[in-house]
Amino acid sequence: MLTFKNVSKEYEGGTKAVNDLNLEINKGEFIVFIGPSGCGKTTTMKMVNRLIDISDGEILIEGENIRNKDIVELRRSIGYVIQQIGLFPHMTIAENIALVPKLLKWPEKKRYERAQELLKLVNMDPEYLDRYPNELSGGQQQRIGVLRALAANPPLILMDEPFGALDPITKDSLQDEFKHLQKNLGKTIVFVTHDMDEAIKLADRIVIMRAGEIVQVGTPDEILRNP
Ligand code: ADP
Ligand code: ADP
Repeated sequence: MLTFKNVSKEYEGGTKAVNDLNLEINKGEFIVFIGPSGCGKTTTMKMVNRLIDISDGEILIEGENIRNKDIVELRRSIGYVIQQIGLFPHMTIAENIALVPKLLKWPEKKRYERAQELLKLVNMDPEYLDRYPNELSGGQQQRIGVLRALAANPPLILMDEPFGALDPITKDSLQDEFKHLQKNLGKTIVFVTHDMDEAIKLADRIVIMRAGEIVQVGTPDEILRNP
């Protein structure tokens, strides 16, 4: 599904953020990248949706080099969730969720129904659809951010510390919810964190990074047995 072949990134100024990354991620797999701040996790995610260029090597999605894909198409086929979700304050929750469907010119009724259906998945009251982001708690806003990434049904979802800013209890319930969602929807998910408990809870396989390199890959069990 997602393949990294000898991928490296050197920023202007000479910082080597990622060095010779090799990894094959399977369809439907939940992969968690973990490592200390500055080890190259975010850089890796940004290369996948081409927010930044790859310096060396290649990234393939379903066998196709992302460099050869139309960048708009590529970004629409990837749901991207970050910690600073940035809901649009002047747009309703329904509009915020259905942002990409709107760009894809889905009719309004279909967009609203899609937002409704997604809100149900996270057990939020449908009355929120017509409300505005400032009426929601941080945890609820983060749920909307996740739903927004799912709205146009992308096969691949990248999540960069999506629950990082939340209090532990909200975080815990969102993790449960999200794991459940992932199992039901069968998405391929690449999730970034620096929290080992979160990695163990969510991952099919954990990828441990240090200083731009992968140092270990394994199931949570394997990682726990062989730290
Ligand atoms: P992580 O997500 O694991 O915290 P990053 O991918 O953000 O790590 O950063 C990896 C390295 O690249 C760090 O040394 C960081 O300072 C550097 N870096 C990140 N973004 C830039 C940039 N735009 N320009 C130069 N260096 C950067
Ligand atoms: P309207 O006609 O209702 O103003 P627009 O199509 O202009 O709708 O966009 C609605 C909102 O979505 C605006 O706040 C705009 O900034 C935002 N928006 C438009 N394109 C994108 C995009 N590619 N990514 C994120 N937000 C976008």
